[in-house]
Amino acid sequence: MLDLNLPQLIDPFARKISYLRVSVTDRCDFRCVYCMSENMSFLPKAELLTLEELDRLCSTFVRMGVNKLRITGGEPLVRRDIMGFFRAMKRHLDSGALQELTLTTNGSQLGKYAAELVACGVKRVNVSLDTLDPDKFAAVTRWGRLPQVLEGIKTAKAAGLKIKINTVALKAVNQAELITLTEWCAEEGHDLTFIEVMPMGDMGELDRVDQYWPLTDLRAQLAQSYRLKDLPERTGGPARYVELLETGQKIGFITPLSHNFCESCNRVRLTCLGELYMCLGQEDMADLRAPLRASPEDKQLEAAIRDAIAHKPKGHDFDYSRQETSGQVSRHMSHTGG
Ligand code: SAM
Ligand code: SF4
Repeated sequence: MLDLNLPQLIDPFARKISYLRVSVTDRCDFRCVYCMSENMSFLPKAELLTLEELDRLCSTFVRMGVNKLRITGGEPLVRRDIMGFFRAMKRHLDSGALQELTLTTNGSQLGKYAAELVACGVKRVNVSLDTLDPDKFAAVTRWGRLPQVLEGIKTAKAAGLKIKINTVALKAVNQAELITLTEWCAEEGHDLTFIEVMPMGDMGELDRVDQYWPLTDLRAQLAQSYRLKDLPERTGGPARYVELLETGQKIGFITPLSHNFCESCNRVRLTCLGELYMCLGQEDMADLRAPLRASPEDKQLEAAIRDAIAHKPKGHDFDYSRQETSGQVSRHMSHTGG
């Protein structure tokens, strides 16, 4: 329940923090080439926050004015008993404090969980899908299999979930599939957002500059087949939207590297260790696990959250200047949650 006696979370740049993304695990059943190395070492399970602790943390944020919660990872649906957590969060939807409970998933477990997610009040899911070619899919995700994901998406749609497809723009991988993917989303009634690849974590053998396909190029390529109309819609995040006039589709572009979206940023990210990252592109974080465990009362935790928000930076430093990736952040996306 929103607590009106608690001052809301406002950062030093007068941005109201109303959106929390929570990475509930760093583990995953895929090993996408831009996200993880093949031989990832994961956090010891004993160090992770329990689902009860995650509940307490999220509920504290909700009391302090967070009204949108996105569950991510790693792959959130591979965490054991994650449905128990979704069921618990439903109470905040029921009370009206939370406007939206949602998740970002690779889709592999949607066949199993879609109906239960709907029962927990989830209305929309973001599903990451970079290609409709089974061989390319296997190559990009290393461990993933396309039919399972497509089946999961089908089940989710049948269960009534609105689906947004997130596609990482990868030069030489899905460049030739731009129109195929767009047409497939139109046929299926899915929204579609393209993400520019970001310099997160050390990928070993892979050179990010080789993967990088700027969305300005992607947009120009799209404009050869469709008339694009810019939409004014802003979500407080890095996405910008256009409408394809021929089909009425809404297409999103997430360009964290080439555009500055920080001035309207309304979000913070919590990891499964209880670290609060105030900015996806900065190393600075606050430990919330210690105050959480220090006392069964929430006063200390609330103070730590408030202190962290007071240090939210103005913006990030990502920059692909020419052929170098600067502003690189050493942690992997699966740690902070995309
Ligand atoms: N496993 C879930 C999934 O894949 O949707 C949730 C976590 S994943 C880290 C969240 C999003 O981050 C996915 O859409 C993924 O494509 C994206 N992502 C991962 N690494 C990225 C990178 N280096 N640059 C851009 N997007 C990335
Ligand atoms: Fe797993 Fe998602 Fe990262 Fe792919 S992008 S490895 S599915 S966490």
